This record gives sequence, C-alpha cells and structure tokens, in this order.
Amino acid sequence: MAADSGTLIVGACQAGVQLAASLRELGDCSPITLVGAEPHAPYQRPPLSKDLHGGTVDAAALAFRTADWYGRQDIDLVTGEQIVRLERNDDGGVAVSAGGRRFRFARLALATGAAVRRLQLEGTELDGVHYLRDAAEADRLAAGLAAARKVAVVGGGFIGLEVAAGARAAGKQVTVLEAAPRLVGRAVAEQTSEYFRAAHLRRGTEVVLQAKISRLTGSGGKVTGVELGDGTHVAADVVLIGVGVLPRTELAGQLGLAVDNGIVVDEFGLCSDGMTVAAGDCANLPNPYVRGDGGRLRLESVPHAIEHARTAAAALLGRRAPYRMMPWFWSDQADIKLQIAGLSAGYDQTVLRGDPDADKFSLLYYRAGRIIAADCINSPADFMAVKTALAKDRDIPADAAADPGVRLRQLIAEPAVR
Ligand SMILES: Cc1cc2nc3c(=O)[nH]c(=O)nc-3n(C[C@H](O)[C@H](O)[C@H](O)COP(=O)(O)OP(=O)(O)OC[C@H]3O[C@@H](n4cnc5c(N)ncnc54)[C@H](O)[C@@H]3O)c2cc1C
Repeated sequence: MAADSGTLIVGACQAGVQLAASLRELGDCSPITLVGAEPHAPYQRPPLSKDLHGGTVDAAALAFRTADWYGRQDIDLVTGEQIVRLERNDDGGVAVSAGGRRFRFARLALATGAAVRRLQLEGTELDGVHYLRDAAEADRLAAGLAAARKVAVVGGGFIGLEVAAGARAAGKQVTVLEAAPRLVGRAVAEQTSEYFRAAHLRRGTEVVLQAKISRLTGSGGKVTGVELGDGTHVAADVVLIGVGVLPRTELAGQLGLAVDNGIVVDEFGLCSDGMTVAAGDCANLPNPYVRGDGGRLRLESVPHAIEHARTAAAALLGRRAPYRMMPWFWSDQADIKLQIAGLSAGYDQTVLRGDPDADKFSLLYYRAGRIIAADCINSPADFMAVKTALAKDRDIPADAAADPGVRLRQLIAEPAVR
C-alpha cells in the first residue's frame, strides 16, 4: 500500500493555520503541508488596518506561531508558493505551484481567503494609491501615511474607517468617500451608521456620502487627489481604496466544485465533491443564525475563520460535527471599539442603550420580539451578555433592556419551555 501522502492545505493564514493545528489536536499523525503564496510565516491581519502609524509594518511581529511551532507539530510550512493548478486522481491529487513545485495529497483543504476588489478607474496606478489586504501592502501604506498630510479613503467600510481613524488620530487631514448613503451599510442599521458618521466628524474627519468618484488625479506619477462626479476635488497625498473583497475561488473552479459567492460548503465544511473541505473567508456556508438568503452566508472575520477551520479539520478526518457558531465581529477605530454579536438582517425593532454622543452605547436588534443581534460601542459588557444569550438561544426582553442602568447579563431569560 502506498504511504499516505497526507493533507495539503492551500492558503496559510487564519483558517489554514487553524486547520493544520486542529488536525494535530484531533490526533492526525499523517503528513500535513501548509502552502501559502505570501513570503512570510502566517500572520494576523487585523492589526494591519489598526496599527499603521509607526511608519512600517513587520509581518514577523504579527506571526500566529513561533517559527519552531511548525517543526514541533510536524507541519511542513511552505511560504512564497502560489498553487496555480489542482488535479484530482484516485489517490487524492496533485497541486502545482507557480514556481513549478508539485505537492501530492490524499486530502485537500482550501483556505484561500479573499482578495481586495479593485476599482477600474483612471489614476489607480498612481504612486500613493493603496489597497490593503496583506502585510506588504500595509507596510507600503504605513510608509506613505508617515509622510502624508492629506489622506483620502475611498470606501466607508470597516477597514476604511479603521485606517481613517488612525490617520486622523495621527494628525492627518482625512476625508472618507463612501458611494452609499451611509457608512458600513452592509453590516449595521442606520442608527449605527449615523453614529459612525457623527463620531468621525467629531474627530475632524470629513465624510462624504453618496460620493461618485470620477477619477484619481496625479502629477508626475504621484496621486494628488480624488475627483468626484460633481467636480469637487479632494486633495490627498495618500489614497486608500477599501471597497470590499472577493472570495478566492479559482482553484475550486478548476476542480469543478460548486461556487456561489464563495466555495459552497455544507454544514461540515465539505465542498460539493463531498471530500474537499473549504474554510474561512473563501467559503459560503449554511449557518443557523441566517434568516433568508437560503440560510447561507460568507463571513469575513477572525472568529469565524478559526471555528470554521476546526469544523473542516474534523470533517477531513471523517468526524462530522455541524458548524453552528453564532457570528461575532469587532472593529477598532482609534478610540472607538465596535463589537457586533449576531446577525441583524431581518430585524423589525431596535432598542438603544446608552448615549451615542458619549461614544458609549449599544443598539439591540429584535425580530418578532426576540433579540437577534447587537452593535456595541465601547460597551464590552453588553456585547458579552448578548453574545452569551444568543449562543444559548436565550432572550433579553426589549422593554427592560432599554434601561442602561440595568446590566444586560441580569436580563438574560431562561430558555422558553418548548
Ligand atoms: C486589514 C484587515 C483588517 C481586518 N480586521 C479584522 C477585525 O478587526 N476583526 C475580524 O474579525 N476580522 C478582521 N479582518 C478579517 C480577517 O483577517 C479575515 O477574515 C481572516 O484573515 C480570514 O482568514 P482566511 O485564512 O480565511 O483568509 P486570508 O486571511 O485571506 O488568507 C488566505 C491566504 O491564502 C493565500 N492563498 C490564496 N490563494 C492561494 C493559492 N492559490 N496558493 C497559495 N496560497 C494562496 C493568500 O495569500 C492568503 O495568505 C481583517 C482583514 C484585513 C485585511
């Protein structure tokens, strides 16, 4: 019998590293190869948009694991190799990298993540125009910000607002340009969007909503600003474009796996062939907390990538346990800490606790009289209470929750008798 050629994990970041770690924790002793396209050992992405103001970003300082951890776990970490071709055969398959290396595998996991959405616009090639997904881009952006006086951020989503807040706190003149009528509109209700607009304005950041960008202007190959449809020119020495990401599904497509806003997986993380797994930002999965959209979603968050990778690792070893994590997320925008528990889509009532003008409040979302989510600004105790209640399928009654003097933790109701 041929030796087990083990598991190949394509993509070496949050989900890929967790997959490898979980396989070992579950007692898998077969070979594990973790291949990543980036040159660095796997590192955390969240600080890339939050800690940019030292002039440089060092991926090594953000590494998930010490260099010797991979050796001790007998995980073969291969960096700087992009897998460009995948083939399946009777023994499992073979992956080929752009550098010509071949990796045989018995089991395959895709943790390819997401790539930034690029704008097709005049001027995006100019010096001083940045996107932000990886450490190399963050390092260039940090250097640009250190020398900049004026910063324009195209896109008022979490990453754009985090960079804007940091740049403003470092004394830059900052303008956020958002195409939609409100900030972070995909993730939060109008009240929280309005809070962010007012909070960033209070800190001196300009916010332009419904901004239609015609082009980026430049001089001598260097960006000088952003021109809007109405002729307004926003001067900038640095422009960050943060307009979302697209899941990386090319390899799944090569294998003929189902793809629909991400690699389609079942509740165990298994792809449509029933044997490959996919986890993290690249995957579209069923989740019991989703109402509508066929009960499916694609999540871009650290807690999800970790938990989903655990589920997928178990499935690779034939131990199927459905993924049921209650979605949660955080965003740090200088002194503003947002924590979100649950999914607010489909809410029919909100309850406000606290004072948005004081940068300390929670917005609780209800549907048919039951709590489904909360946006908590500088209110970690509220966040923990709602997260706990949702994870245990308990309610927090809306009428009592409106009183900020009452701790939400004390309002968590006993489960309803069914
Ligand atoms: C700037 C920034 C700030 C963020 N802040 C937060 C936050 O505050 N809170 C939060 O919860 N989440 C945050 N996130 C999101 C979080 O980092 C992601 O959800 C998480 O990294 C997803 O992990 P992943 O492993 O699925 O994908 P990724 O992190 O995208 O990693 C995928 C890896 O696969 C590699 N890869 C892709 N294709 C191939 C191939 N063919 N061959 C080899 N390698 C390949 C890529 O190079 C990449 O390294 C942030 C993300 C960014 C970019």
